[in-house]
Amino acid sequence: MDRFAETEGKRAHDPLYSPRRAARATATGFPVGEHGEVFAGPLIVGAGPAGLAVAACLTMRGVPYALLERYDCVASLWRHRTYRRLRLHLPKRYCELPLMPFPANYPEYPTREQFLAYLEEYLRTFGIRPFFRSDVISAEFDGEFWCVRVKEVVTAAIDGREAVVSSVTRDYYSKWLVVATGENAEPAVPEIDGIDIFKGEVMHSCDYRSGEPYQGKKVLVVGCGNSGMEVSLDLSNHNVHTSMVVRDTVHVLPREIMGLSTFGLSLWLLMCLPVQTVDRILLLLTRLVLGDTARLGIPRPSTGPMELKKVSGKTPVLDVGTIAKIKSGDIKVFPAIQSFREHGVEFIDGKTEDFDVVILATGYKSNVPYWLKENEFFSEKDGFPRKPSEWKGKNGLYAAGFSRRGLLGVSIDATKIADDIGQCWNDIGYEKHKTK
Ligand SMILES: Cc1cc2nc3c(=O)[nH]c(=O)nc-3n(C[C@H](O)[C@H](O)[C@H](O)COP(=O)(O)OP(=O)(O)OC[C@H]3O[C@@H](n4cnc5c(N)ncnc54)[C@H](O)[C@@H]3O)c2cc1C
Repeated sequence: MDRFAETEGKRAHDPLYSPRRAARATATGFPVGEHGEVFAGPLIVGAGPAGLAVAACLTMRGVPYALLERYDCVASLWRHRTYRRLRLHLPKRYCELPLMPFPANYPEYPTREQFLAYLEEYLRTFGIRPFFRSDVISAEFDGEFWCVRVKEVVTAAIDGREAVVSSVTRDYYSKWLVVATGENAEPAVPEIDGIDIFKGEVMHSCDYRSGEPYQGKKVLVVGCGNSGMEVSLDLSNHNVHTSMVVRDTVHVLPREIMGLSTFGLSLWLLMCLPVQTVDRILLLLTRLVLGDTARLGIPRPSTGPMELKKVSGKTPVLDVGTIAKIKSGDIKVFPAIQSFREHGVEFIDGKTEDFDVVILATGYKSNVPYWLKENEFFSEKDGFPRKPSEWKGKNGLYAAGFSRRGLLGVSIDATKIADDIGQCWNDIGYEKHKTK
């Protein structure tokens, strides 16, 4: 007996079978039973921008899908783990998802709230209905189907607090698995000597919302990527005594040069000039706008910004005002941390300084190695596809949003993936998918 017929049979005798859930699921083509289901269309894991983009593109190709999201909302990163002053770092035309531009009245760099409103509208426009509180805890190809194990959590407000009242584990089967769990799924926290003895507050930048609660305090931001630079700026704007650790070399470029987006300008130059020439032009212009960042304690790598991005995926930081604050002395720059003390930090140059709060702006990591039992396409080391910009693996496995090219990369991946699955879907036909 094939697994579809088996599911149908079990459902007929299943007292827990919920017609409401089934009605909703059927709308997306998802057959529901309590003992594991074979889904005709692809399973998409993660309802961030990448998962939503794949879902929209599949909808337009008439392919049903099931979108599984561990939280109770879409774009959990943007909603729950970003600071309030966040705006898109890149102009809106480079950040829109497929098939739907940003509203014309949005500014060039939309705010976090505007981006979230755009995503909600995207959801409505394409009738996307994710399965929320569905945490994918494992996925494995069994030779015929991807078996995806999902922990579904039911919560309720008890004494004014959200509490887990029950959880159930289900297995779903599909011919296609689209991994859209993001490059930033979990905070990356480095091991720093003595961190346990520090008596102040230590947090990751994903828990930082605003500098308001830290007014008058001494705060150290560890890391100088886009988040570290912007959190430092926000703290300083809130009259916090702000310091920032710069451990490695980094390319800081102005967000705009002579009113033009630096990102847009780089893309345009790259169309007609070799990458090394583009880098020389960018660095010359940057020097005119920002001055010599090495003199501020932020040395540059020997490889230029665009070439470095190409060979290592490392994105240049786009300055939105932090460099001016460093020049004015409002933000102090320190080298790497040697070790923590009870009330502060010792740096590798031997200097010590007291701090009340340490914010680790030390980046994020993929969580794919924790749940996907596959290591030919995805690397078990970093949870990214082994070949940069690769979006298609074997046996119907896909990666959406892992090309280190931000939302532009998300859109490109989503379109390719939906085209590929759509083609396959049309070739075989819906009825045959069901009985395979
Ligand atoms: C602070 C910040 C600012 C950024 N600004 C820009 C910008 O301006 N422009 C730009 O192009 N890019 C930007 N990026 C980079 C990137 O575009 C975003 O991170 C974007 O959100 C990526 O979308 P995504 O869907 O791939 O991943 P995410 O947004 O991380 O979404 C992944 C989703 O998967 C869910 N999930 C994870 N694991 C599981 C699981 N096991 N089971 C079920 N669900 C799961 C998560 O809850 C989440 O909702 C920024 C990134 C950060 C961190």
